[in-house]
Amino acid sequence: MGIFHCPLGVAFYDDEGCIDCGLCAAETQEEMVEASKKIRAFLKANGPNPGPVKKMVVCGKGGVGKSSLTTLLAGAFLRRGYRTCVLDTDESNPGLSRFFGFEKEPKSLITLLSRFSAGNASPGTEWLTGGDTLSLEDIPSEFILSHQNLKFMMVGKIKDPFQGCACSMADITRDLMRKLDLKEKEVIVVDMEAGVESFGRGVERNVDTVLIIVEPSYESMALAGKIVYMSEGMGICRVKAILNKVPSESMREKMTAELEKRGVQVAGTVRFDPELSEAGFEGREPGEGIAREDMAAIVRELLGETDS
Ligand code: SF4
Repeated sequence: MGIFHCPLGVAFYDDEGCIDCGLCAAETQEEMVEASKKIRAFLKANGPNPGPVKKMVVCGKGGVGKSSLTTLLAGAFLRRGYRTCVLDTDESNPGLSRFFGFEKEPKSLITLLSRFSAGNASPGTEWLTGGDTLSLEDIPSEFILSHQNLKFMMVGKIKDPFQGCACSMADITRDLMRKLDLKEKEVIVVDMEAGVESFGRGVERNVDTVLIIVEPSYESMALAGKIVYMSEGMGICRVKAILNKVPSESMREKMTAELEKRGVQVAGTVRFDPELSEAGFEGREPGEGIAREDMAAIVRELLGETDS
């Protein structure tokens, strides 16, 4: 049984029933495709009801501006009075904590697992590995930075040669998102690694909202279509694109039409804002500007509120 490849997490914490899809025993490509179809059907039937926006992932092609827009998104929720937790799951890009004004990083969640024995929890990990639910208060302070209503966590970074792969990071993220029990006016925003590998591992299956950052490029829009397909296969109903780096209104219209053809709904557009570029260059939170206004409108749309 491959502990990294069970999309339902059966082998990792022994917390879900095996549906006998056959994926972990598949030897051929055909068997893997068949198993994936069984999982897709199971998750579509048993996926989470969308309910209110609480657990969001921000994803997309590399370089589209996920981290900048994660910062804007979290800021928009904070300004609306939401207790907002940001989870950095990107194993490569450093510095997201700086965007939120933190001088240091929290202890990585990956340190909860013993090296070379992924799946064997170390002492002191009961808050994550034990029990069925977890509140933000249950997370030890060394793993979560706090400033007023803002919380920040980090799964871990690959820093050294031979450090190992990122599979166990994916398992931690998936389990954390499943257990996290958020109260009213609490949200979590997860900055995902680029691409669809995390979707292949089912990391997103316990979230209620997938936000795909899309730039004006064929690859970015094609990937958005793929992410919608994979998200729906996990039973996630709220999957929307946010357009970024859009140079003109005509390009926005073209992108919207192209994405519609691929089954991708657009939540809104973040217009080019020099302040956003400067903040990204300096590694700080963006200040006032049109990008911030645009994200505020997108959050109102996500919350089902009118623009008035
Ligand atoms: S058969 Fe499927 S559900 Fe069961 S452990 Fe293997 S991959 Fe997971």
